[in-house]
Amino acid sequence: MMRSTERYNYYKLQKKFRFFIDGRICCRCGKKAKWTAHRIANTETNVAIYTWQVIDHNINIVPVCDNTECNSSYNIGFDDNKCKKIYELIKLNMETQINNYVYYAEINKKIGVKN
Ligand SMILES: [Zn+2]
Repeated sequence: MMRSTERYNYYKLQKKFRFFIDGRICCRCGKKAKWTAHRIANTETNVAIYTWQVIDHNINIVPVCDNTECNSSYNIGFDDNKCKKIYELIKLNMETQINNYVYYAEINKKIGVKN
């Protein structure tokens, strides 16, 4: 689904963070990862339910290769209980923890240093 510029910049940062933590390898097969799979799928319905900040949050995305089987293996959209658990983790992360990467990116921006 199409992302607004604000959403795209947020997603880019979340993806960068995920690749930094997990490496650029597919979490399912170990090949080079180019994309991210969404645990709660990136659909209009899910964005309306959870917000795009949750859908594109680094906890909801997983590095994967271009194999659609690897991508779809992380989809938990059919399991309401798992979606609820992921949502709770993301909410907790957003409410109580400082995302260091975002924090330092802000500092770097303010002092004019590249990330
Ligand atoms: Zn793979």
